[in-house]
Amino acid sequence: MRVLETIAAFRAARAEVPGPLGLVPTMGALHEGHLSLVRRARAACATVAMSIFVNPAQFGPSEDLSRYPRPLARDLELAEATGVDLVFHPDVAEMYPPGFATAVVPVVPGGPAQRWEGEHRPGHFQGVITVVARLLGIVSPQTAYFGEKDWQQLQVVRRMVADLAIPVEIAGCPIVREPDGLALSSRNVYLSPEQRRHATALSRALRAGRARYEAGEREAEALRRAIEAVLLDTPGVRPDYVAVVDPHSLEPLTRLEGATPGARALIAARLGGVRLIDNAALSGGEPSYS
Ligand code: AMP
Repeated sequence: MRVLETIAAFRAARAEVPGPLGLVPTMGALHEGHLSLVRRARAACATVAMSIFVNPAQFGPSEDLSRYPRPLARDLELAEATGVDLVFHPDVAEMYPPGFATAVVPVVPGGPAQRWEGEHRPGHFQGVITVVARLLGIVSPQTAYFGEKDWQQLQVVRRMVADLAIPVEIAGCPIVREPDGLALSSRNVYLSPEQRRHATALSRALRAGRARYEAGEREAEALRRAIEAVLLDTPGVRPDYVAVVDPHSLEPLTRLEGATPGARALIAARLGGVRLIDNAALSGGEPSYS
C-alpha cells in the first residue's frame, strides 16, 4: 500500500496501477462501515484507492472540526489489512490552495441538498460536494463507494455527478450497525457510556416506523410521529428532525403507496453535544437507480 500526500504524487502512482480503480472517500477514524466500502471496491476493482481527508469546508463554525478523531497510524493499518492499494492523504493546503477558506470555484448544491442536513448544517453539502468533485478529478475512479448511512449525501453526490457529467459510477453501500442496532460512526467515540446506551433509540425508532408501515399505516405523518415518539421517550435524546421522504428527491411524502418504493425515514438527533444521524427504508424494496 502506498500513501500519497500531494495531487502530483497521487496522479503519478495512479498512472502505474491497473484499472478499474475504485475510490472510497473518507475522513478517516475508520470503522467497519468504511471497511465494508473497501471490501465492496476490492471485490469489483483491480485497484482500490482510499482518500483520508477531514474536510474543513463541510464543518460549520460551531461543529467538531478541531476535535474530530484523526488516528492516522491505525487507519493506515486497517486500510492496508483490508486491501487498499493507494491512500490519498492530502493536507488542507493541498486540497484548498492557501488564501482560500474552501475552494475558488465551489460546487453549489440545490434540489435534494436543501432540506434536512442542508437546513440544519448550512454550507455542509456545498463543502461535501466541492471536495468530492475535487477528489473525483484527482483520482479519476471508475467507481466511487459511498455509505447509505449518509443517505442524503449519497443522493446529493449522485445528482452532482449527473449534473456535471462526471464519468464515474456512484455505488451506494448498506449501513453497517453494532449488534444492538447503532449505526457505526466515527462520532460514536464521543458518546459517554450512558449516551451510548440511549443512542440505540435511533435504530429502535426506525424499526418502530417500519413496524407501523408493515402493520398497514400509509400516512407519512403518522409514521413520522411513531418514529419521533421513540426518540422523545428516550432520556437525553433530542431530535433535530424526523422525516419520511422520497428516497431520491428527499421531499417529504404525504402518503406511502405502492408507487413509493423505498420511501425513506431520516433521523438526526442530539445526545448532549453529540449529533447522530440514521435512516432506513420504510416501504417495500430498496429504490432503483435506473
Ligand atoms: P466519513 O468518514 O464519515 O465521511 O464516511 C466515509 C464514508 O463511509 C461515507 O460514504 C459514509 O456514508 C460511509 N459510512 C460511514 N459510516 C457508515 C456505516 N455505518 N455503514 C456504511 N457506510 C458508512
